[in-house]
Amino acid sequence: MTDCIFCKMVAGEIKPDTVYEDEEVIAFRDINPQAPMHVLVVPKEHISTINDLDEAHAPLVGKLYLVARQVARQEGMAERGYRTVMNCNEEAGQSVFHIHLHVLAGRDMRWPPG
Ligand code: AMP
Repeated sequence: MTDCIFCKMVAGEIKPDTVYEDEEVIAFRDINPQAPMHVLVVPKEHISTINDLDEAHAPLVGKLYLVARQVARQEGMAERGYRTVMNCNEEAGQSVFHIHLHVLAGRDMRWPPG
C-alpha cells in the first residue's frame, strides 16, 4: 500500500525507532508514547483492520503477541506488567489502518480504558 505509513516503514522509506524485526514483523517505538514504554508490533503484510483478518492469519496474529512478550522482556517490563491493545476502526481509536499491537508499560494502567 503506497500511502500507508507503516508500509513505508516496512519498505525502509521511513526509519522508525525499531526495537525488533524479523521476516514477518517489525516493532518500533510509538512517536506519541502513552506510557514510558510504548511499542507498536506491526505485521509486514498490509492488513487494514482486525475485520480484514482471515483464518490464514492466525499464526501471524499469534506471532504479534510473541513479539510483544519478547519486547517487554528486553525492555525489562515483562514481570512488572504490560498492556497490549489493538484498536479496530475509528470509534475504537484506530488512526493508522494497518493493524498493529500497542505494547504499553512502565506506569499504572487504569481499567476500564478511556
Ligand atoms: P492507532 O490509533 O491505534 O491506530 O495507533 C496508531 C499509532 O501510531 C499511534 O499511537 C501513533 O502515535 C502512532 N504513529 C503514527 N505515526 C507514527 C510514526 N511515524 N512513528 C511511530 N508511531 C507512529
